[in-house]
Amino acid sequence: MNETYFQKGFGLKSEVGPLLARTYQSAAVERLKSLGYEAGAGGLHFKLAKEFGFCYGVDRAVDYAYQTRRQFPDRRVFLSGEIIHNPDVNRRLTDMGIEILGDSHDPVERFKTVGSGDVVILPAFGVSVPELNHLKAKQCVLVDTTCGSVLNVWKKVNYYAKDGYTVIIHGKHHHEETRATASQALTHKGGQYLCVRDVAETERVCEFIRGTLSAADLMSKFGEASSADFDPEVHLQRIGLANQTTMLMSETLKVQDTLRRAMIDRHGADNLESRFRAFDTICSATQERQDAVLEMLDAGGLDLMVVIGGYNSSNTQALARLCAARVPTFHIQSAACIEGEAIRHQPVGGHDEVPREQWLPTGPVRVGLTAGASTPNNVVGEVVTRILALRGGRPEQLQAL
Ligand code: SF4
Repeated sequence: MNETYFQKGFGLKSEVGPLLARTYQSAAVERLKSLGYEAGAGGLHFKLAKEFGFCYGVDRAVDYAYQTRRQFPDRRVFLSGEIIHNPDVNRRLTDMGIEILGDSHDPVERFKTVGSGDVVILPAFGVSVPELNHLKAKQCVLVDTTCGSVLNVWKKVNYYAKDGYTVIIHGKHHHEETRATASQALTHKGGQYLCVRDVAETERVCEFIRGTLSAADLMSKFGEASSADFDPEVHLQRIGLANQTTMLMSETLKVQDTLRRAMIDRHGADNLESRFRAFDTICSATQERQDAVLEMLDAGGLDLMVVIGGYNSSNTQALARLCAARVPTFHIQSAACIEGEAIRHQPVGGHDEVPREQWLPTGPVRVGLTAGASTPNNVVGEVVTRILALRGGRPEQLQAL
């Protein structure tokens, strides 16, 4: 096989399909779904979000990773980083002999153990342009699983940068997806970018735009979150906004509005069109999961929410934020976080897991459940099973309410 770049799998879906189903499906989740996403047993009332868990991009990336292992049984296979932010899925891939490379901003360092002919899987959130070029120059076989929704963001970024607009990215500047997206801006002559994490950071940028903050003060905060030679005086004259696909929609709209108002204050409403462009690039899977959880919260009656997903998963964090604003919320990575009466969880905005005793109230409890786009159903099912066991119940005993 002479081809070295693959984006559409290897036609082995029917071969890996049964293994994927055995590994990632869950009888407990299927039962809950078949009962209308709401069922109870042992005094526990579960309500599952209508949209949760694996998204189309993650589904495809994991499928291609399994196909890749089968297609190249005798080659060294690497993942350029975690395929998705879920420890369970990453561990299973490691067990299949796929090596997950450590993170580094320097492609030479990151791929130092990879050589010509080795197979490298690129994750759903993509890799940066220098990383891709480096791997091509090394003559690696590349299996690119970059999600179509991420490619769509890149298209917008290229559209801005080509026309001389600095790209403002609402996202976490250290996140793989945002790093890859930012690198697209630099492929154009004079291309620049600046990342804002939230509304508070956006307001700081707006203070500079309105002339109430100096360039030096701005850059003391955004040095690492902007292109190398970013000069606010020059590069905030015309801006185009995109976002990491997994941010909170309500926040992205606020970021957009905040920047728009600052550009109007500085340049006047008549000049807005030539100074400011914006597209919301939240992916539909992220949006649907956020909408589904809001619908559950609006319906009311929940005593608590359990949000399941990797602690470094951006879209899971966004779901947890939505929930925590309304009901007691526990963001956990897996069923192992629940040990008897205690739970280990990551509070919203925190960076560490914390223990909590007596997390499940006594008596009848209404438990809301959702999971981030990188969480497979088997992990959700294990959580349901573990919670039910606290009341001596089993998933087969779940009944419609
Ligand atoms: S969260 Fe959205 S952008 Fe990311 S892989 Fe899933 S569908 Fe694609």
